[in-house]
Amino acid sequence: MTAFAHRITATDGNARAGVLHTAHGEVPTPAFLPVGTAGTVKAMTSDSVRATGASIVLGNTYHLMLRPGAERIALLGDLHRFMDWPGPILTDSGGFQVMSLAKLRKIDADGVTFQSHLDGSTYRLTPARSVEIQHLLDATITMVLDECTPFPATPDEARASMELSMRWAQRSHEAFRPRDGYGLFGIVQGSVYPELREASARALLRIGFDGYAVGGLAIGEGQATTFSVLEATMPHLPADAPRYLMGVGTPDDIIGAVRRGVDMFDCVIPTRAGRTARAYTSQGVFNLRNARFAEDAAALDPACACPACTRHGRAYLHHLFKAEEMLGPMLLTWHNMQYYQDLMRGLRTAITERRLDAFADAARAGWAQEVPT
Ligand SMILES: [Zn+2]
Repeated sequence: MTAFAHRITATDGNARAGVLHTAHGEVPTPAFLPVGTAGTVKAMTSDSVRATGASIVLGNTYHLMLRPGAERIALLGDLHRFMDWPGPILTDSGGFQVMSLAKLRKIDADGVTFQSHLDGSTYRLTPARSVEIQHLLDATITMVLDECTPFPATPDEARASMELSMRWAQRSHEAFRPRDGYGLFGIVQGSVYPELREASARALLRIGFDGYAVGGLAIGEGQATTFSVLEATMPHLPADAPRYLMGVGTPDDIIGAVRRGVDMFDCVIPTRAGRTARAYTSQGVFNLRNARFAEDAAALDPACACPACTRHGRAYLHHLFKAEEMLGPMLLTWHNMQYYQDLMRGLRTAITERRLDAFADAARAGWAQEVPT
């Protein structure tokens, strides 16, 4: 059996490259997790996700508990089999979506009661139930249930919210059934306040987790604040445990967070942008609906080896979006995911070769070629 372990193989400044060993395979870090919301990375087959170089995907507890239901997925095997992803899967706890999507949500000391945004039926999510759902899905990495502190929050509000999350982290830990190669991650909260972030990290360390996420960021505070919170948090986390920045971000956000010691990311940007004609490329961000691409036969990104870039030109992709053909979002999502996975591979190589600064400068110089549209 495989022990759940993160082995750091190289460092460059505060950045780290390594390998996360799990029951379902290895994850080279820094890693970007495609978001597989409802048992699918939207507009991609599992083969195409694998082809981009992704080694781990994220599943959403909230969406899967409502439809088709965690017990039903367990009856059919598990989430790996259900979505044809034998590799590692990290599931979130459901807390973030309950607060952002569900109706009539009511939070109390023991959990949250809410109505499904699909049919209005009532559900209850507690730390133990969230961990149980993630167990039924056979999540490789389980996340504790937490409250994503809204932004902005006063220091008193942020402290009360963080302390609630720390009590739930303890209950999540008690509910988790340890197995070889499986991990449970705690989540640091505390809004933008360094002393609360430190207190949260210390509380999680006392409980003891296999990895540590930083939550409650990328919700409107701005990149400079995100980075300052990371700088205040990272020194209080164990040196070798994986560190996961939830819900981040743009390529520039990711490079900045990797430089501050983050190992794992997830974000809907590459998939959501792919459905709305926005292309992330080595030359910046394009909107393929723009009329200037109507007769542009050039490859979308000459540096990319995905099918959208090697088999088609920008004019064809522009046409697909103008004609509202399904293939447009499919090809562009594949491209954006390829761009993100190539970025992560580039970061891992640059850290190993101790030239991360030069890599970051070159990436920014490339993006500056294009005026964002
Ligand atoms: Zn491409």
